[in-house]
Amino acid sequence: MRLVLVFLVVLTFKSYSQGESPLDFTHLAATIKPDSDRSVSGTVHYSFLVKGKATSIAFDAVDMEFSNFYLGNTKLEKGINYDGKVLQLAVDLAEGNHQIQFDFYAKPKQTVYFMGWGDKVKDNEQIWTQGQGKYTSHWLPSFDTMTEKFEFDLSVQVPPEYQVVANGVLKRQNTTDELTTWEFDMDRPMSSYLAAFVVGHFEKKVIHSSSGVPIELYYTPGDSTKVEPTYRYTKAIFDFFEAEIGVPYPWQIYKQVPVQDFLYAGMENTSCTVFSNQYVIDSTAFIDKNYVNINAHELAHQWFGNLVTEFSGDHHWLHEGFATYYAYLAEKELFGDTHFYWRLYQTAKTLANLSENGDGEALTDPNANSLTFYEKGALALVMLRERVGDTAFRNGIKSYLKNYAFKNAMIADFIREMAIAADEDLSDYRKEWLESEKFPWEQVKSYFEKKEPSLKQFFELKEVVGNAPETTPEALQLFNSETPVPLKRQFILEFHQKIPEASLADIITTGELEVRQAVALTIPKVTKDLQDEFEAMLEDQSYVTQETVLYKLWEVFPENRMTYLDRLEGTTGLPNKNIRLLWLTLSLITPEYQPDNKKEFYDALNDYTAPRYNFEIRLQAFKYLFLIRALSNTALENLIQASESPVWQFKKASRKLLKTINTTEEGKEQLRNLRQQLTTHQLGILNKVLAK
Ligand SMILES: [Zn+2]
Repeated sequence: MRLVLVFLVVLTFKSYSQGESPLDFTHLAATIKPDSDRSVSGTVHYSFLVKGKATSIAFDAVDMEFSNFYLGNTKLEKGINYDGKVLQLAVDLAEGNHQIQFDFYAKPKQTVYFMGWGDKVKDNEQIWTQGQGKYTSHWLPSFDTMTEKFEFDLSVQVPPEYQVVANGVLKRQNTTDELTTWEFDMDRPMSSYLAAFVVGHFEKKVIHSSSGVPIELYYTPGDSTKVEPTYRYTKAIFDFFEAEIGVPYPWQIYKQVPVQDFLYAGMENTSCTVFSNQYVIDSTAFIDKNYVNINAHELAHQWFGNLVTEFSGDHHWLHEGFATYYAYLAEKELFGDTHFYWRLYQTAKTLANLSENGDGEALTDPNANSLTFYEKGALALVMLRERVGDTAFRNGIKSYLKNYAFKNAMIADFIREMAIAADEDLSDYRKEWLESEKFPWEQVKSYFEKKEPSLKQFFELKEVVGNAPETTPEALQLFNSETPVPLKRQFILEFHQKIPEASLADIITTGELEVRQAVALTIPKVTKDLQDEFEAMLEDQSYVTQETVLYKLWEVFPENRMTYLDRLEGTTGLPNKNIRLLWLTLSLITPEYQPDNKKEFYDALNDYTAPRYNFEIRLQAFKYLFLIRALSNTALENLIQASESPVWQFKKASRKLLKTINTTEEGKEQLRNLRQQLTTHQLGILNKVLAK
C-alpha cells in the first residue's frame, strides 16, 4: 500500500511461523451481502487438499456467527469450536480433495467501512474494504497468514442501484428479489489480505494495455472531466512495467477505484487497487498533487507483493521497497533522468540525516518505519542495480518472480536469485544495505555525482554558498532557462535568505512555475519591492502557489485585501479545497469585504466540517474556524464525531483540537453549553477525549 504520511507511520505486522499444515486450500467461492446496517453476511465454500491425514480445519474469523456447516454433502452438527477469533472444526479427513461450506454473519468493527450511509446526501453511499493491516477475517472467514494462497471467486449482493468492484473479472450480473449479484472470477491464487470489494455509485472508462489487459478506471458521476488528469499515464506505466520487469502482468484485469476517506493513499488489492479520492484531480492540480506515483506504486505491487508475497513482516522490503523503486523507475520513464535523481536525492538526504543522528533502521527490521521500508528500500534496489548492472538485475528480478510466482518468498530467496544472475557473492551488499541501520550516504552521493550533472553542480554550490553570507553573482547565474528546474528549486529552498531581493524579483519574473512557487513558499514576508511579482503569481496555474500568495499578500497589504479576495473568488483549488477554505476564512475576517455576505461565509465554512466531506477538507475547516474563533455548535458536534474516525491521523488531529479548544476560556464555555444538547453517545466521546 502507499501511506499518506510516509514519515510518521510505523507499520507492524504479525510474524507467522509456517506450520506444517496437512491442509492446502485451493479455492474459495464466497457470496457476500453487505447491508446498510453495517453487517456482512454470506456463505463460504472452500475447496482444499489433504496431504496425509487431518483431524481439524481452522479459519480466522473475528466476532462472527455461523450456521449450516457442510463437509461435502454431510451436514456437520458437532465438533464446531469458536473462541471469537478462530473457528475450529474437528473432522476426520482422509488424503485427497475436500469441500467445506458454511454461512456466517458479522458486524465488522474494522476492515469494512461504510461511508455516507447516515447522512441525507443522495448517492454518496459507499462500502469499501481494507485488508492489509486490518485483517480480512473481520468480514470473511479466511486466513490471517500470508502463506495460505488460493483462488478467490467473490460474489457480492447489493440493491440494483449500486455498482460493485472486486478482485477478478466480472463474470455475470444477476438481479432477483431486489438484489443484484455481482459474480467475480479469479483464475490464480492469492493471500487473504488482498481480497477486496467496493460498493458505490461509479462510472468507468475502460482502456487496454499494449498486451491486451483490460484496465478499468472508475470515477464517481460528475467527475468525468477529471478522469484524464487523474489517470494520466496509466497505460504508459502499465506497458513500461511489463517491458521493464520482463514478466507479463499476472492477473486477468486491472481496476482502480477512488473512494471516500480511504485510510491510506492507495492499496494494491489483487487486480483491484483502491485509492483515496483526494487524488481525483483537475488539470491545474496536477502540478501540485497527482496520482502518478501512487498509480505506479500500487500497480508494481501486483508483481511485488501479490504475485510473490513476503513470508512475514521480516521480509517487508520485498513489498514496499520494490513497489517504491518501480514507481520511481516509471517516473524516470515519464519525466526523465533529472527528475528521477532529484527525487531520490530528496529521500536519500532525509535518510542520511536520520542515520547521522543515530535514528537509522535496518531493512530487515520488521518494526522499521515506512520511510525505511519505502525509501531506503527503493534506494537499496537502485544501488543493487548499479552494482550488478542492468542485465543481471533484470535477469535476477525475472527469475525471482518466476520461481516464486503465486508463492511466498524471503529476502534471502531474492538475494540468492540476484547473486546467481550476477554470478557474484552479495553478502557484503546484504550487510551494508539490508542489515545495517546506517545509511551509506557517501556511496549514494558519489552515485548521484556520477549520474546527474545538476546534482554534482548542486553539491559544489553548497560548498561555496553554504558558508558565505550572501550568494555570489556567479552562483546566481544558475537561474537561466538551461538549468534543470529541480536544481533551481532546491537552491531557493535552501539559500533564499542569501539571495538579494532584486535577484529574487528577477527569479520570479523569469522562472518556471515550480521555481516561482519555491520563492512564494520560502519568503516569510512579502516586501514592497516584491509586491508586483507576488501579485502576478496570483494568476499562476498552481493552487498551492495561489493559496500561499493570497495569504502572504493579504497579510502585508491590508489596503489591497478586497482586490486580492476578488481575484480568487470562486476558485476551489486542490481536492482538499485549499483555496476555497482560505478564501472563506479571510473573507470572514476582512470587515470591509462583502459585509452583507458574512453570514453566508460563516455557514459555508462551518458546513465544510460535516461528515459528508473528505477528512482533509474537514480538518482544515476545523483549524481555520478555531483560529478565527468561529466554530458553530454544529461544527463542534462534527469535531466530536471526527474524533472517532477510522482514519487515524484525522482522529488524532481532531482529538488534539478538541483538547486545545477546551483549554481556552470561550471554548470551555461553548463546550459546557453544548453538553446540554449532545446525545449520550456524543457526550461519552467528548468526556473520553477530554479525560485523556
Ligand atoms: Zn505499497
